[in-house]
Amino acid sequence: MARTPLLMGNWKMYKTVAQARAFAEALGQQSSALHGGVEYAICAPFTTLHVLRVMLPAQVKIGAQNVYPQKEGAYTGEIAPMMLAEFGTQYVLAGHSERRTLFGESDQMINHKVRAIVENDMVPVLCVGENLSQKESGQTQAIVAGQVVQGLAGLSASDVARAVIAYEPVWAIGSGKTATAEDAEVVAKEIRNLIAEQIDASAAVSVRILYGGSVKPNNIASFLQQPNIDGALVGGASLEASSFADMASAI
Ligand code: PGA
Repeated sequence: MARTPLLMGNWKMYKTVAQARAFAEALGQQSSALHGGVEYAICAPFTTLHVLRVMLPAQVKIGAQNVYPQKEGAYTGEIAPMMLAEFGTQYVLAGHSERRTLFGESDQMINHKVRAIVENDMVPVLCVGENLSQKESGQTQAIVAGQVVQGLAGLSASDVARAVIAYEPVWAIGSGKTATAEDAEVVAKEIRNLIAEQIDASAAVSVRILYGGSVKPNNIASFLQQPNIDGALVGGASLEASSFADMASAI
């Protein structure tokens, strides 16, 4: 089954509503770069989701960067899955390395989030990846496998088939250093094989695997050319509409 490529921005904690509006307007003027056969999404701060949903070109879906895995309740400061789903949110990130390291999110918490996202008919984007010392000590495969298996625990095969996994080596995020496309392909292939062996063979064929970490207009094509890499999760280079459009053109 052919997998639809996915270009996904992760704005992190950048952009006010006014700045998000300016981005949407600018991308609208360059929407001829958004060719068919590719899915586009931007995972933006909660406060900007409304203006983006209204103003982004229709091909660009909205995603959230976080969610709290409870239906509702006394969880001051948190956002429930239903609040995002009602709003037209299609994707939600879970397990980004900044959430894991700065906010202490465990694989168990990330799995609760993934399940809550799925139960509310949104698509989880499970982020996994090794840090520099884990890479240097040869643990990449074990770390990534553990994060994938624990992150997807309890999902049905069809839920896994619809999910997205983003392989983001922690040392490549925001650093200007990327994995080589060949190294990223090795890990993406290992993730797909792991899902085939431990979850379901047809889910492994359908699940989309993205690369993330210093993706830019001038390197995105090399990742997308790899057979097991189906798209990119892009931080810094997704903040400018011209750069988002350049990446869309390069796919
Ligand atoms: P970067 O961030 O593209 O700025 O490296 C990627 C990410 O954190 O998802």
